Amino acid sequence: MTKADIAVLGAGFSATAVVVNLLEYLHPERTIAVVGCQNGFGRGVAYATDDDAHRLNVPAGRMSLFADRPNDLIDWLARRGDAYGSDDFIPRRLFGAYVSDTLGQGIQRTDNRARVRFIDAQALRCHALEAERQIFELTNADVIEVGKSVLCLGGTAAGLPVVQGGVDAAVRDLVVENPWTCGWMDGLDIDAPVFIVGAGLTAVDQLVSLRKRGHAGPIHMLSRHALMPHAHVVPRSAAIESPISPGGKLSEMLNALRVAAARSEDWRSVVDGLRPVTQSLWQSMSIDERRRFLRHASGWWNIHRHRMAPDIAGVLDSMRASGQLVVHKGWLERVVREGQNAAVIYKDRHSRTSRRIAAQRVVNCTGMEKCSVARVPLLQDMLDKAFIRQDPLGLGLAVDEQSRIQSGAGMLDTGAYAMGPMTVGQFWEIFAVPDIRVQARDVAQRVATAA
Ligand SMILES: Cc1cc2nc3c(=O)[nH]c(=O)nc-3n(C[C@H](O)[C@H](O)[C@H](O)COP(=O)(O)OP(=O)(O)OC[C@H]3O[C@@H](n4cnc5c(N)ncnc54)[C@H](O)[C@@H]3O)c2cc1C
Repeated sequence: MTKADIAVLGAGFSATAVVVNLLEYLHPERTIAVVGCQNGFGRGVAYATDDDAHRLNVPAGRMSLFADRPNDLIDWLARRGDAYGSDDFIPRRLFGAYVSDTLGQGIQRTDNRARVRFIDAQALRCHALEAERQIFELTNADVIEVGKSVLCLGGTAAGLPVVQGGVDAAVRDLVVENPWTCGWMDGLDIDAPVFIVGAGLTAVDQLVSLRKRGHAGPIHMLSRHALMPHAHVVPRSAAIESPISPGGKLSEMLNALRVAAARSEDWRSVVDGLRPVTQSLWQSMSIDERRRFLRHASGWWNIHRHRMAPDIAGVLDSMRASGQLVVHKGWLERVVREGQNAAVIYKDRHSRTSRRIAAQRVVNCTGMEKCSVARVPLLQDMLDKAFIRQDPLGLGLAVDEQSRIQSGAGMLDTGAYAMGPMTVGQFWEIFAVPDIRVQARDVAQRVATAA
């Protein structure tokens, strides 16, 4: 049995952000156990890539780990002699190095710092979740007992959007369920057709990697509305004050935004002006309105809010203009074997007829949106024991405004918190670094005060 004051479960950005903040606020006698298994704590899915074509979709000037030290990343880059400025969209690999390095430096400082122990394992089950006593069983057969815990398990990758049995067993070897391991391109013929399901930022990553590899074959992309992320412009237009405030009806808010965007020189200044109020706008909506937003507006919101670097957009434009990239609107129906290839059968949005396209690889780029409790053994165990419950829309865990986990029985102040994409139901915009770092600071302060 390992004992510590605080357990941080996870090894991605959220976990690192809360640990570096805890090191700032926590009493030096305290101990933190960080449980996660991944090479290089701090990188998680987003920053583990070693492909420099995979770039941040937020300029470096907004990507500091610390909510109160906006220049921390820029200063780190300058100390290394990297010639990047605050408007640059740096490689995600480099950002991952910054996060790991900052964590390492925080731990090495011996002046008045709490102690951190890393445990290379996953949390599998939870045996107690009570005030000042939480017990987790790990995959390495260890058990840890702590007084406070912060769950930072990230989102879950969405599966291919087909009914069960929609992907033939005989074609599984050509279907790439996890595109973040770029090894899927090994053995791919340079002229072969590729079929990408999804048109968001995950798909964009794969397109730039294919391009970098010199892929010459046709690339088909399928999504319900064929909406792709918009591009940032540099220099950025200044954000304008939000024309909407919490409390209105969704339809009225959307109308006000349309009017403001039409009046502005660049709609981006309106979208960027919503950042400070986005979480409170979401929280002010009824559950039905949130559901309506998810059904009708979230796709549009995502492509306007989560934009891509301008030169990456240029690469995609040239791939579309040359005819190499074809974007289809519709719904995936089935994937079957067709000789050496896969055949993708989808329903076209306009004609409502089924179409069939052959490809050497079918790549699932539907992204990491939700935190599906059923797909994470620890969370399923906690749900079964009523230690947690899902938020009303089933997007992730139910937490309050302070990120405290709500149990099946209602609110219990157990000292257990959740962070990052797991808390999307409460905060909505809690995927990107500028949002997570604020949550990390706030959670660390609360945990440190009580520990
Ligand atoms: C491809 C991609 C690109 C992105 N680009 C940007 C960007 O440019 N700018 C930006 O601001 N945001 C970006 N984001 C969003 C953002 O940075 C992520 O949402 C953020 O990294 C989430 O971090 P996380 O630690 O919560 O989750 P993750 O990074 O998913 O990490 C979760 C960690 O938990 C571990 N884990 C899971 N289960 C257990 C368990 N039972 N026990 C212990 N550990 C467990 C996993 O192994 C993993 O290490 C990007 C996201 C993705 C996916």
